Amino acid sequence: MKKLQQLHFGKRYTKLPEHFYSKIRPTPLPAPYLVAFNRDAAGLIDLHEEEALRDDFAEHFSGNRLPPHAEPLAMLYAGHQFGHFVPQLGDGRAILLGELDNQAGERWEIQLKGSGVTPYSRRGDGRAVLRSCIREYLCSEAMHHLGVPSSRALCIIGSDEPVYRESAETAAVLTRLSPSHVRFGSFEVFFYRGQFDHIRVLADFVIDHHYPEYAKAENKYKLFLGEVTRRTAQLMAHWQAVGFCHGVMNTDNMSILGLTLDYGPYGFMETFDPGHICNHSDPQGRYAYDQQPQVGLWNLSCLAYAMSKLVSETDADTILASYAPHYYEQYVALMGAKLGLFKPGTEDLPLIYSWLELLQQNQLDYSNSFRMLGEFDAHEGALNQKLRDHFADRASFDAWAKAYRMRLLQDQQDDGQRKQHMDAHNPKYILRNYLAQHAIELAETERDYSEIANLLEILRRPFDEQVGMERYAEPAPLSARHLLVSCSS
Ligand code: AMP
Ligand code: MG
Repeated sequence: MKKLQQLHFGKRYTKLPEHFYSKIRPTPLPAPYLVAFNRDAAGLIDLHEEEALRDDFAEHFSGNRLPPHAEPLAMLYAGHQFGHFVPQLGDGRAILLGELDNQAGERWEIQLKGSGVTPYSRRGDGRAVLRSCIREYLCSEAMHHLGVPSSRALCIIGSDEPVYRESAETAAVLTRLSPSHVRFGSFEVFFYRGQFDHIRVLADFVIDHHYPEYAKAENKYKLFLGEVTRRTAQLMAHWQAVGFCHGVMNTDNMSILGLTLDYGPYGFMETFDPGHICNHSDPQGRYAYDQQPQVGLWNLSCLAYAMSKLVSETDADTILASYAPHYYEQYVALMGAKLGLFKPGTEDLPLIYSWLELLQQNQLDYSNSFRMLGEFDAHEGALNQKLRDHFADRASFDAWAKAYRMRLLQDQQDDGQRKQHMDAHNPKYILRNYLAQHAIELAETERDYSEIANLLEILRRPFDEQVGMERYAEPAPLSARHLLVSCSS
């Protein structure tokens, strides 16, 4: 494990042509202090957790003190925002410090989010508010521990510097880690500009560093696009399975590695509603829960279009046509496991869908209902009274339970085994908005950061029972059901 000064930042992105980024130093953050520190993420960069206790830790991760020889930069990209192409975006408030290698042979890019204006800030102030840093910090870790590919979060550094959104808030800097921060929009920007050579350079860069198995293949761009397609399809299936809504699935927020990236007005679904919209700034529901899988494909078609000088139209069509099979394969595997099916297949889709319909009709909590179903008694004649009582419409439950029992009989697992399997796929603890909001309010009003640490600790083990923490598994109280989150962050 290393001390801070032993971290040696690489600078591979600076080897790319200068049109790909702007070198920029973070804007100093006045009187920074540590708000949250995640030892799991410190482990990813071999950083000794006691380094967080240093007096100068906040100086380093606020961007006030740069690592020696670092050449921080903001990355250029474009993107389709809510369906409309915006020719130039870029990191308007994030700065890449460089990348770090760990003992396990992984390489992590380290980005400071909220570290001041860059040439891509447009009219923004380059800052992130404490509220949004806490939300990204908690959710990216929660997703990772749920088994969903995601960027990670190392720490939050706060400051009393005021930042104005709908009202006055305070600034913070989030340090996030990802193997890459390249987005679909990183390719789109050069297509729009007609700089087709740059698209090839960027594709080669991403392939060499992240898809090295294709580097020597003759049809490497096709293989690369195919793999991004497969990963994105799988990611969408993961989001559906955990009930996650991203909220702003613009192509500038789509990771070239198929990771969840750029947490804004996201939300975990509570009461099951396929049309659920988590982002108050998306009244049309373009990015509603049930739209996400097809938006994933739409976004990939934007990427394929941007890569059209590298991958023929016929090949791109074939690749895009592989999206649905990849998606359904992963969806059935994940949802089947949630229902405790031993070897689920597409023939199980009607059972999965009818269960979801039951949840919708009875207005039940998505995650808790799956967890509860682990108690199902498959013996002949069992009434499953306790479970049944959760459904306002008992008859519809009985009908579904009959079909479910028939399906379970095929697997010949005993109830105990099945419950264990289901508990490992149905989280007891998810990051409900009201839980995050409570941690935020304590932080904002009392400078009490203990609830952030407490939540992180719970979300690190979402599938465990965790005695004494049961109240964190409760759906939002009525008073917090209509908590609104918007793009403002
Ligand atoms: P988002 O939807 O949050 O991913 O942001 C879209 C674009 O706006 C990205 O290019 C961001 O870097 C930029 N952006 C968002 N908030 C700010 C801000 N406060 N200051 C500067 N740029 C911002
Ligand atoms: Mg973004």
